[in-house]
Amino acid sequence: MWPNGIRCAVCITFDLDAETAWQEDPRLVNNPGVQSQGRYGPKIGVPIILDLLKRQAIESTFFIPGKIAEDYPHTIKAIIDAGHEIANHSYSHTPLYNLSLEEEEEELVRTKAILEGFGVRIVGFRSPWEVSENTLFLLEKHKYLYSSNLMDDIRPYRHSDAELIELPLQWITEDWAHFAYGQGLFIKKIATNTEVREIWSDEFEGIFEFSGLFNLVLHPQVIGRPSRIKMLDEFISFIKAHDGVWIGTCLEIAEHVARVVP
Ligand SMILES: [Zn+2]
Repeated sequence: MWPNGIRCAVCITFDLDAETAWQEDPRLVNNPGVQSQGRYGPKIGVPIILDLLKRQAIESTFFIPGKIAEDYPHTIKAIIDAGHEIANHSYSHTPLYNLSLEEEEEELVRTKAILEGFGVRIVGFRSPWEVSENTLFLLEKHKYLYSSNLMDDIRPYRHSDAELIELPLQWITEDWAHFAYGQGLFIKKIATNTEVREIWSDEFEGIFEFSGLFNLVLHPQVIGRPSRIKMLDEFISFIKAHDGVWIGTCLEIAEHVARVVP
């Protein structure tokens, strides 16, 4: 599946949810402390992450809700100017299964227009939370190149009878599942960096053996803490120490898969 000499592909991705991550419960929307946790993402997390990606010479993909692109245009511009891909992450980050087909399509179209207003082409989509029964149909209807949503493989694949490429992911290669903590929603122990690095490293080595795609899903408000950025820096160096690893954007990987998978 991969180009000559490549054993395993890696995409290091960021979901810039910011405040939209904290709207499940109306009490959270009106809580300045909870909302500030989201604001940390664009305010502090993104600049630290852009520095790290530049130092590691990595191009990444940022999935951005349309609402956040409207609220933080300078952050979006900084991401694009640094050479990274941006992609669609809905408008409001409302779980898609709570939207009608018309509402979901409206969010998809609206966000694509907002993001393309920054002068780039939008061809990828990652859902907030889970996809709905309409999501793949809508992505195909609107001619998306790739979806990064499903958990049913370790290698990219083409959806049957469709142009759409799936770049699969899993909670295990997320930061939110391990680190997230917040009022009322995610009350569990915050994992240590050592625990998460061990989980990610073991999974990376497994995916490397299977010649799969290691799709790392990160959130600037979560991974952007100082200690975790240091861990991510070391983890990227660990990945690079393997022969035959291709670290690319979702767009680059999806374009390659589209060429080689019938
Ligand atoms: Zn999200």
